[in-house]
Amino acid sequence: MSSLTVEMIPVLDDNYVYLIHEPSSGTTGVVDPAVAAPVRDRLQARGWSLDWILSTHHHADHTGGNLELKQATGCRIAGPGKDASRIPGIDVKLIEGDRLKLGDAEAEIFETPGHTSGHISYWFEGSNALFCADTLFSLGCGRLFEGTPEDMWTSLQKFEALPDQALVYCGHEYTQSNARFALSVDPDNTSLQARAADVDRQRSAGEPTVPTTLGLERATNPFLRPHDPAIRSQLGLQHADDVDVFAEIRRRKDSF
Ligand code: ZN
Ligand code: FE
Repeated sequence: MSSLTVEMIPVLDDNYVYLIHEPSSGTTGVVDPAVAAPVRDRLQARGWSLDWILSTHHHADHTGGNLELKQATGCRIAGPGKDASRIPGIDVKLIEGDRLKLGDAEAEIFETPGHTSGHISYWFEGSNALFCADTLFSLGCGRLFEGTPEDMWTSLQKFEALPDQALVYCGHEYTQSNARFALSVDPDNTSLQARAADVDRQRSAGEPTVPTTLGLERATNPFLRPHDPAIRSQLGLQHADDVDVFAEIRRRKDSF
C-alpha cells in the first residue's frame, strides 16, 4: 500500500483544504475544497490532474469549490450518503464502513455526526492520515449545529481504535483559541501547558499547528478527556457519565 502525499492549502480566514496525491498511480484528490482557485493553482504547479473531491459535510466553507472543480476537471465527488442532497455535485454516496480507493491508497469511512447530521471522516490507514474536518479539532471539537452531545461523543469514540501516531488533518486553524479554553477546564495538565506554549510560538512564527496527532490530542484535548479526574473535579462532575462531562465541556466552550 503506497502512502499519500498531503499538501495543506490555507484558504478563507482559517480553513484548511488538503490536496492528496497517491504517487504510484498518480491519483489526486482534494478534501473539502472551500474555494476552487487556490486548488486549481496548486494542481497546476504540481502538474497533477484532479480525480476526486472528498467532501466531509455540507457547509459552504467546505464545499464551495465542488462544482467549479468538477466542471473544470471532470473529477468525481464522494461525500456523505446520508446528506447527499446537501453535497454539491455528489457522485459517490458513502456510509459507515465503506472504502474509497485513490489508486493504491484506501480510505475507510466513519460516519461522525454532531457538527452536522451527515458529517463523515476519512481514515487512510496506510498513510496514517485522518481527515475529520469539523468533528475533531486540534485541542477542540466542532460546534453542535445539528447534533446532540451524545452524537458527537459517539463520533469521537470511533477514533479510539486508531493509533496514537495517526495524523489529524482537521478543517480549521483554531488551535490557539482552543488552547485558551482547554486551559480553563484543565489548568494543571502539564502536557497541555507545554503544548499551549508551543502553539503560541508556532502561530507567532506564522506556522500551522495542523496536522496534530491523536496521541497528542488524547493527552491534551479536553473533548477527548471527559474521564479525566482533574477535569471532572474542575467542573464539579466527579460522578457523572463521560457523555455528561463531554456535554458540559462543549456547553462551556460555546460561551467561552
Ligand atoms: Zn462546518
Ligand atoms: Fe468548517
